Amino acid sequence: VWKNCMLFIQDNIQPQAFKTWFEPIKPVKLSENALSIQVPSKFFYEWLEEHYVKLLKVALTKELGESAKLVYIIRMENTYGNKEPFTEKIPSSNRENMVPQEMDVPIKSKNPELRNPFVIPGIRNIKIESQLNPNYNFDNFLEGDSNRLARSAGMAVANKPGGTSFNPLLVFGGVGLGKTHLAHAIGVEIKDKYPERTVLYISAEKFTQQYIESVKKNTRNDFIHFYQLIDVLIIDDVQFLSGKSGTQDVFFHIFNHLHQNGKQVILTSDKAPVDMQDIEQRLLSRFKWGLSAELQTPDYETRISILNNKLYRDGVEMPEEIIEYVAKHIKTNIRELEGAIISLIAQSTLNKREVTLELAQQVVEKFVKNTKREVSIDYIQKVVSDYFEMDVATLQSKTRKRHIVQARQLAMFFAKKFTKASLASIGSQIGKRDHATVLHACKTVDNLAETDKQFRKYIDDLTKKFS
Ligand code: ADP
Ligand code: MG
Repeated sequence: VWKNCMLFIQDNIQPQAFKTWFEPIKPVKLSENALSIQVPSKFFYEWLEEHYVKLLKVALTKELGESAKLVYIIRMENTYGNKEPFTEKIPSSNRENMVPQEMDVPIKSKNPELRNPFVIPGIRNIKIESQLNPNYNFDNFLEGDSNRLARSAGMAVANKPGGTSFNPLLVFGGVGLGKTHLAHAIGVEIKDKYPERTVLYISAEKFTQQYIESVKKNTRNDFIHFYQLIDVLIIDDVQFLSGKSGTQDVFFHIFNHLHQNGKQVILTSDKAPVDMQDIEQRLLSRFKWGLSAELQTPDYETRISILNNKLYRDGVEMPEEIIEYVAKHIKTNIRELEGAIISLIAQSTLNKREVTLELAQQVVEKFVKNTKREVSIDYIQKVVSDYFEMDVATLQSKTRKRHIVQARQLAMFFAKKFTKASLASIGSQIGKRDHATVLHACKTVDNLAETDKQFRKYIDDLTKKFS
């Protein structure tokens, strides 16, 4: 059937148009008089609907008769926030007001003018995994002075996504203060209240990776269109986008589309918008359209209640003086606060040992000290390639393209500077080079650092990320 349709279509349009818009289509299924075709993207579907629907209709009617139906299946790359590849079924000429039922195409093929555009109710069935963590919800996000504004703004957004002036909602604050928790909580609450809305949580880092991948695979349009399908978009740690102009640009377009269509955007960042560096002005100004709410360091009372809550949930009891000791000494990071108490719980339950103040002191000391991150060669390669918006494989590749070579040399330079690895070992881990190459790279970087201002900036930016 499809073959005949294609022949008919081919006779009726320009060869170039046929090649672009019809050759990529795959027929998938024919059941009774409904033909399902697979198209590469939503954009593709929209284009077909806008430009070729009459032609498709005529062709289909010739083959399947007056009651012919057409179903589009949109295939997306499985990288966009999904574990599984997903397909989206959209019946032909399905605009707004879609009703969940089989569509019915009243094709009047004798009337090619189609003065009354036909609107067909049908199924719209998008499956996008929200990537939300149900363990991060409002119930266990304890309220205190330090988070009251952000928490209630989050609640307001959850009650009326897209319907408040808090769009975007930007939650900012230091490490371990609950940004990720709150971001999930908002999404979880929305899913609960509005199960039919498409919610997606994604870290800015992962978003960037997807974007880079889409550029590599030439599917940038699909990437954009995927994100434009979302009703509530939550992007965690947007400071990660700093200096990444390609990703910022694509996010800008997605943001505008969502915002214009009344969709909710929720962002988190470790800095207030005014302090964000290397983020384009036009994006920063968008961030300020909505509300920026800070998560501050929790006061003593809140820290106590977070600890008590954790103990209560785990069904563990602990002497008050221990709890107070922990709350007094860990002040600026709730993750560390939790880490310390979890460690104490483990000690007391596994070793069946009474938690003494002395033990608490040891644990707390460890937590306060251990927060420095270890720098590995893998980590260096990851940070450098992120910084230059490429992936690690590209950084390691054999190419001699200047910006890639520079990124590779910088990775070698930092590996030498921040790890104890030998030149040979650095070389073998960064794309199987020998020690002479690494030595040369280090010298080149030293030279460029003195002569090239832009290059100096790269080094400074990256050094900050490792220290
Ligand atoms: P951030 O994203 O700001 O670095 P997270 O959201 O990862 O911080 O929070 C760190 C830990 O602290 C998480 O385990 C989170 O559940 C917990 N936490 C943060 N804020 C609260 C709060 N108000 N009540 C209870 N737990 C909290
Ligand atoms: Mg976080």
